[in-house]
Amino acid sequence: MTPTRLPAAMRRRVIAESHDRCAYCHTTTAVTGAQLVIDHIIPESAGGQGVRENLCVACHSCNEFKGAQTHASDPMTGKPTRLFHPRRQWIEHFRWSEDGTEIIGLTPTGRATVSALNLNHPLIVEARRRWAIVGWHPPLEDV
Ligand SMILES: [Zn+2]
Repeated sequence: MTPTRLPAAMRRRVIAESHDRCAYCHTTTAVTGAQLVIDHIIPESAGGQGVRENLCVACHSCNEFKGAQTHASDPMTGKPTRLFHPRRQWIEHFRWSEDGTEIIGLTPTGRATVSALNLNHPLIVEARRRWAIVGWHPPLEDV
């Protein structure tokens, strides 16, 4: 399936509303210098449309790990669970560890998303550790 090209105005709008951070892991472009990508929350392959309500921005890591997934197993129960929908409140499903390096899933959706998107892979945890030392992390909106 060939992805649909989004209109430039829609891309700009989604990026402008993102606060320059990944909708899933909240990594900001200011600390990575890496551009975010547009993510279809419900993938086009699963019928998701290129409309504002179904679009968010994601870092490359989250986008790659998410792929076409909409559900994953909650590691606590093993039950298939819907992944986090970025139009919902992040803080209802996640919190930062005390040292700000790891994302803790608070709900089945939060835990499934942490696992499926590998939100605490060793490279990002080490980067967050360094960002926290200089006060760049976690994002102020999350604490
Ligand atoms: Zn991310």
